[in-house]
Amino acid sequence: MQPAALLGLVLASAPAAPSVVAVDGVLCDFTRTLVQGAARVTCLVPPGADPHGLALKGSDRQALASARLVLTNGYNLTPALKRIRVSAPLVAVAERAVPSRSKSPDPHVWHSPSQASAMVDEAAEALQPVLGSANAASLQRRRKSMQAVLGKLDSWSAQQIQTVPQQQRVLVTPHRAFSAFADRYGIRELPVVDSFTTGGLLRPSSLAAISQAIRASGSKAVFVEVLPPSKTLRRISAVSGVPLAKSPLYADGLAPGKTWIETATSNVCTFVTAQGGRCDQSSANALQKQWDAIQ
Ligand SMILES: [Zn+2]
Repeated sequence: MQPAALLGLVLASAPAAPSVVAVDGVLCDFTRTLVQGAARVTCLVPPGADPHGLALKGSDRQALASARLVLTNGYNLTPALKRIRVSAPLVAVAERAVPSRSKSPDPHVWHSPSQASAMVDEAAEALQPVLGSANAASLQRRRKSMQAVLGKLDSWSAQQIQTVPQQQRVLVTPHRAFSAFADRYGIRELPVVDSFTTGGLLRPSSLAAISQAIRASGSKAVFVEVLPPSKTLRRISAVSGVPLAKSPLYADGLAPGKTWIETATSNVCTFVTAQGGRCDQSSANALQKQWDAIQ
């Protein structure tokens, strides 16, 4: 056989890059950073979208049907997933990484860097058989590099939060999403709409109770998750007299066009500056560069 014909045979039998679906939370960035070019990664929940109310599109169902592996956050972050059928392995990464016995665990576990690091372990383990032995060493190398940056993110975050006066280490947010973050850094979490309303409905008595709780908390800001802020949050801010934060906190996943490291440092800086502390942006940028350099 001629060399050209041999080459044709090899090309014809070379398998296409496997396709992996990263559904929600921060898995889009974690999966892409882990696999680089060794798999085609489709991300289902767009950055900034609300996974809790998401409806899957036809193209999402097609991606799920043709995937070799589906990585989801789990803990019902995206309730629309309950109704899907996939033949590929479906791995609930956060549930494996951070097991919980709570009846209603906070699904946003990645806001603690050590828990995010455990998610990287689980995602890498699930990806290993899909990427094959040829990619095993590079997958493990990237996993370790990512975890090194997440370790530095943890100490950087703790340093920034220490600049906030103790009585202002409180996080007033629309929904319960930062319990992992609050637990890790000694912050009191006050998820106002979840705590005081049923189904997001705000009664006048609830508005009074929320405003009282916010004033009593010592918080200098009410944090927002989307801009412009909802009418409910604007009312809460007006009645309590506590201003809305100027930048949003990214509770449900990645900020548009950003990696998890950029999103996480942005969240920390938004919290710290609104509560009277100082944020070291240049060291945050250095962390981002290290994450970007992972190949
Ligand atoms: Zn959420």
